[in-house]
Amino acid sequence: MSDRVFNFSAGPAVLPLEILEEAQSQFLNHDNTGANIMEQSHRGPVFDKIIKEAEADLRTLIGIPDDYAVLFASGGASFQFSAIPLNLCKDNKKVQYIQTGTWSKTAAAEAEQLGMDVDVIFKDTKRVPTAEEIKAKVDPEAAYLYYCDNETIQGVEFQEVPEAPIPVIADMSSNFLSRPIDIKKYGIVYACAQKNFGPAGLTVVVIRKDLIKEPIQTCPNLLRYSVLEANKSMKNTPPTYAIYIAGLVFKWIMSKGGLPGIAELNRKKAMMIYDTIAQSNGFWNVPAEESCRSMMNIPFANIFGEERQKEFMAFAETRRCKTLGGHRSIPGSFRASIYNSMPIEGVEALVQAMKDYQTANQ
Ligand code: PMP
Repeated sequence: MSDRVFNFSAGPAVLPLEILEEAQSQFLNHDNTGANIMEQSHRGPVFDKIIKEAEADLRTLIGIPDDYAVLFASGGASFQFSAIPLNLCKDNKKVQYIQTGTWSKTAAAEAEQLGMDVDVIFKDTKRVPTAEEIKAKVDPEAAYLYYCDNETIQGVEFQEVPEAPIPVIADMSSNFLSRPIDIKKYGIVYACAQKNFGPAGLTVVVIRKDLIKEPIQTCPNLLRYSVLEANKSMKNTPPTYAIYIAGLVFKWIMSKGGLPGIAELNRKKAMMIYDTIAQSNGFWNVPAEESCRSMMNIPFANIFGEERQKEFMAFAETRRCKTLGGHRSIPGSFRASIYNSMPIEGVEALVQAMKDYQTANQ
């Protein structure tokens, strides 16, 4: 479809065209039921099949064993900033956070607001801590160690899972399903859908079952992992349409060779942009250190700074490359979010635009 743009938005983000077309084909009459799935009961057989299949496919994709629960939670990832301390800190309010950017900072602030004793063991927005730095600070008496695996705004991504003798909790909102992970290294992995697997309004929480316990007494019902698990994610009406689309995305990833296949493609796409920047003689630059650059979100800038930001964005739009503006906290910058669904043609168009803009302006 030629009127579709290459959408580099950080989220809500691009979805595979095949999935939009599949959803469109079912829009008025889902699977011969005579109604859209969003018009049908979440307790009916059609949705029941969708949610069960989505869970089974996710388990297959990641390799999630039976001692982990898969929860489909309503709302954005930010709800988990509260749910995590509320569920894990009934008897121990000491918690540790690694801060590598905006989202881990926001999560730590939320825990603090809820009365936790927050210990920030590392703070930097250009790199992630080394295994030694973590080991030196991690407290075996803390309830958990929290970090953000991929900082969407700063473009800083962990290459290794932090090692700790306490449950490790990872916000993978912007890199979930972008590469294989060893789920057994985590206590909780969670991600909102609107970046890598569907519409906003859904957050998937994968949690080791022994961490599903009695929460702090004031924890609202819908934030209780025990309530979500006991009710198979349906204590109230779940975001049914978002779960339907997520299920289609899980199958789409399987068709691309699963997580190893998608990871290879993601690396290729990211390296096309990083290589273009490296070969630009300083015309383009990236803030994050090379060892921890994100494969999903690439913040970058050029030598002109704020004054000509709009000019490059208008130029890129002539090549169908849209929503390249950097986060408002980094004035004058750009950001290319290249999630699983960004086609390689989009990245090719972007690097060509960067090269052509440089040639015309240096
Ligand atoms: N964590 C990360 C890494 C994010 O990128 C975002 C959203 N950009 C959030 C958490 C918050 O997600 P939501 O808006 O769904 O609450």
